[in-house]
Amino acid sequence: MNLDLLAIAAHPDDVELTCGGTMLKMAQLGYKTGILDLTAGEMGTRGTPKIRAKEAARAAKLLNVGWRDTLGIPDSDVKASRECKLRVAGVIRQLRPKTVILPYWEARHPDHYHASTLGYEACFLAGLKQLPITGEAYRPFKIVYSVSYADVRPTFVVDISDQYEQRRKAILAFASQFRPKETDRPSKVHLAIDRLEVEMNQLARHYGQMIGVQYGEPFLQKELMKVEDVVTMEVRSL
Ligand SMILES: [Zn+2]
Repeated sequence: MNLDLLAIAAHPDDVELTCGGTMLKMAQLGYKTGILDLTAGEMGTRGTPKIRAKEAARAAKLLNVGWRDTLGIPDSDVKASRECKLRVAGVIRQLRPKTVILPYWEARHPDHYHASTLGYEACFLAGLKQLPITGEAYRPFKIVYSVSYADVRPTFVVDISDQYEQRRKAILAFASQFRPKETDRPSKVHLAIDRLEVEMNQLARHYGQMIGVQYGEPFLQKELMKVEDVVTMEVRSL
């Protein structure tokens, strides 16, 4: 299968929370999209891996994502080991995505910054002909980093105003995380549903405001942006 866009993240629901609107928007533009969850999120205080897998499939459907899989790296143990890099490189060769979205390389949760390094190095290794894995050598053209929760200035923001409501539904599909049952023990480490709603709204509003729209998702790319026409550039200055 050849994908146009692949998002790689540490835990199921990471993609929904950081770039779900962009995934949906690209699918609506006709691009083939996919999500690779590195772990099954089994260290989460709530919800079993089985429940989270069901939720992930439901969220993928809501975002029109055509391909989603879990690599099965132990949760809280994501690292750019040789073994993990070869496995992710195998997926890159299988899916041949043009563009890959990775988490930003600095984060509070070690799985998130390790996922960034692992994803980058796997994309690079996938292009080495002599790599001891199957599949034709292939390297994505572009890597962009999702910086929704990073303290860094994005290089661009995607307008997700039209996708915001559906993204919200996809995030809330992870009900075990955000909508605990009455019988669940209360947990201090987990985000309550009302706080999550406020937070996701504020973040998307903040980045939307920066480009003069309702809701946005921020990204960073290491390369400079190329511009052909400076007369019709978007986002007003005054
Ligand atoms: Zn995560």
